[in-house]
Amino acid sequence: MAKIQATRGTKDILPSELKYWQFVHNKIYKILQCANYQEIRTPIFENSNLYDRGIGADTDIVNKEMYRFRDRSNRDITLRPEGTAGVVRAFIENRMDSHDKLQRLWYNGAMFRYERPQSGRQRQFHQLGIELIGSADARADSEVIHLAMTIFNDLNLKNLQLNINSIGKIEDRNIYQAKLSDYLERYYDDLDRDSQNRLSSNPIRILDSKNIHTQQILDGAPIISDCLSIESQQHFDNVCNYLAILAIPYTINKKLVRGLDYYNDTAFEIKTLNSLGQDTVCGGGRYDSLIEQMGGPKTPAVGCAIGLERLLTLAKDTVNLPDEPVNFYIATQGSAANKTGMTIMKFLHQQSCTVELDLNSKTFSKQIKQANKKKAIACIIIGEQEIQQGNVIIKWMLKQEQENIPITQFKERISYLKKKLLFMQSFQIIK
Ligand code: ATP
Ligand code: MG
Repeated sequence: MAKIQATRGTKDILPSELKYWQFVHNKIYKILQCANYQEIRTPIFENSNLYDRGIGADTDIVNKEMYRFRDRSNRDITLRPEGTAGVVRAFIENRMDSHDKLQRLWYNGAMFRYERPQSGRQRQFHQLGIELIGSADARADSEVIHLAMTIFNDLNLKNLQLNINSIGKIEDRNIYQAKLSDYLERYYDDLDRDSQNRLSSNPIRILDSKNIHTQQILDGAPIISDCLSIESQQHFDNVCNYLAILAIPYTINKKLVRGLDYYNDTAFEIKTLNSLGQDTVCGGGRYDSLIEQMGGPKTPAVGCAIGLERLLTLAKDTVNLPDEPVNFYIATQGSAANKTGMTIMKFLHQQSCTVELDLNSKTFSKQIKQANKKKAIACIIIGEQEIQQGNVIIKWMLKQEQENIPITQFKERISYLKKKLLFMQSFQIIK
């Protein structure tokens, strides 16, 4: 029969890779915990109008990339393509601001976009998002950027570049949009098809085009910073000053806009200079009007999302995680020994030791071979003879040394066993 394969653009994360994911998650959780951010989990699918309204109808995501379908009750449903819209819906629906006007939140989960799969670009991918809701202060923008940078620094990632820009307020953008359209109209025939379409609907989005020819045309285009209000310029200067105080290097990229419509003022991206492929590992910005636009109270906010697959690719170069050894491997033969093996396994679990029970019941030499393969520090051997004598054999695998322990004394000897385990483990590391 033909094999069933994973859907195009999706990937299995196998145990050997998952340990890197867990390592990265643990690091991130600690950083966010220190900063007093709370985790939020929103549904993986939402009503499609959340994204139509929240992300913007002229964006690539809504136009081309959404996994959108009718459910059995004919509801218009979308698998979430990003996390902020869901968090904002939850914030409004659960009146989270009634408890505290300032919410420091983070989320982590799978996102879905129908894109052309390539290295660093999947159809199901994972994002870790940070949202600081309730503050218009430039310190909030800098705090979010600082947290993202701390995550990268803690993982020892080098050669990252923080690009930052201000895209101003809606009014600034309207002025800019007119200037940009005037300029681009002159090059209409040379623009890529998407950009031609956007020229009438949402010209600023053209700045985000990945088409090289369009980018060349944009080199001579007016820039948004010339249209910023004094207030927006001041906010941007403040963010940059706080970044300097935090000793975070940044590059002002006046062409930077973000792929989603809901941003204002600060827009930023963190890129790796190491890869030639998909180099953006984090994107974010301020979204002061989104919550109100979604039917909530007027609430400023700023946030960012880190692409975890891209982060993991970089982290695997700097982090080395050897296989964790099993503490005890239990090898038994005969029904009485199997029962004793089970109780010892339960006891060792309670003692937070890693234990693996041999389930093949082959010869002891095969079971011991298996223990070696698992890099077990000790093998607990229980055969019929041991049962008769009331003992178990502890074979310390690395030292080729073994000892008998009376079954009745196994529990009271656990602190001795744990100490010896540590000693043997250090021996294993040296080896
Ligand atoms: P890109 O320009 O690479 O398409 P984007 O602007 O669409 O990125 P955002 O919506 O800002 O990306 O998402 C934040 C981060 O999520 C990105 O910087 C990237 O690291 C990651 N990301 C986005 N889309 C994908 C994808 N299809 N596969 C893997 N990671 C992704
Ligand atoms: Mg994209």
